[in-house]
Amino acid sequence: MNAPASPVILCVAITGSVPRKSDNPAVPITVAEQIDSTQAAFEAGAAIVHCHVRTDDGTPTSDPNRFARLMEGIARHCPGMIVQLSTGGRSGAGRERGGMIPLRPDMCSLAVGSNNFPTRVYENPPDLVHWLAGEMTAHGVVPEIECFDLSHLWQAHALWREGRLPTTPAGIDAGRPPYCQFVLGVRNALPADRHVFDSLRAAHRHLFGAQAPWCAAGIGRHQIEVNEWAIAAGGHARTGLEDNVRLDRDRLAPSNASLVLRATRIAGQLGRPVASPSQARAILGLRPA
Ligand SMILES: [Zn+2]
Repeated sequence: MNAPASPVILCVAITGSVPRKSDNPAVPITVAEQIDSTQAAFEAGAAIVHCHVRTDDGTPTSDPNRFARLMEGIARHCPGMIVQLSTGGRSGAGRERGGMIPLRPDMCSLAVGSNNFPTRVYENPPDLVHWLAGEMTAHGVVPEIECFDLSHLWQAHALWREGRLPTTPAGIDAGRPPYCQFVLGVRNALPADRHVFDSLRAAHRHLFGAQAPWCAAGIGRHQIEVNEWAIAAGGHARTGLEDNVRLDRDRLAPSNASLVLRATRIAGQLGRPVASPSQARAILGLRPA
């Protein structure tokens, strides 16, 4: 008898900073739309929601008041769901990027190094990274490390060894390695290439051990294959309209939930159950809901 397959945590990235209604009318922009879209994705099987906020005309912002309203709505409509707020650099500049950390969501994303994006440099200088990590530590917020480059794994490891990362709420398990996400398919950064994926996994295992949980995201048409790779390899998976607005070449995705359902079908085909929010909290060492 084989051991039972480990559950896969599905994260839905509902909005992001880039896609607009003109790309896909299902991209949720207002807080009310975001809450509705999250609820449907939650009911479809997502345990984590990764959130950005926009102004009503669709411009990216880091406005903590919007994040607070979104968190309230998600808590009301999606009991137990893990809320992860973005501190990414497309929504603001400098310390403005961390203005929502005092809201104490379960998690925030944390980019630990710089790289190129399609039309710009994604700037994450060490002093800002240290400040964001310090804010997360002060407020008991667990980071998800965004790896846009192989070197980012080593930068995460250095931060962890230096004790700069609040890997889990204080007192539960101070030695737990950070949760890392490999982001594949961003133009001018890591390609969605199987050798790259395997290299990242090998480096991650080397640095953090075979038991450390990890996740992968594929951008655009690479979303589905990276979902398959991650789920087959025992990792966790991210989907959602932030990364990809299409179901396939011919069809726009009708909702975030449709992309979550697609990921649940892949999990089923590969023999892995989908993690409930409470299972996901246990796997990631987060506080109970
Ligand atoms: Zn994001």
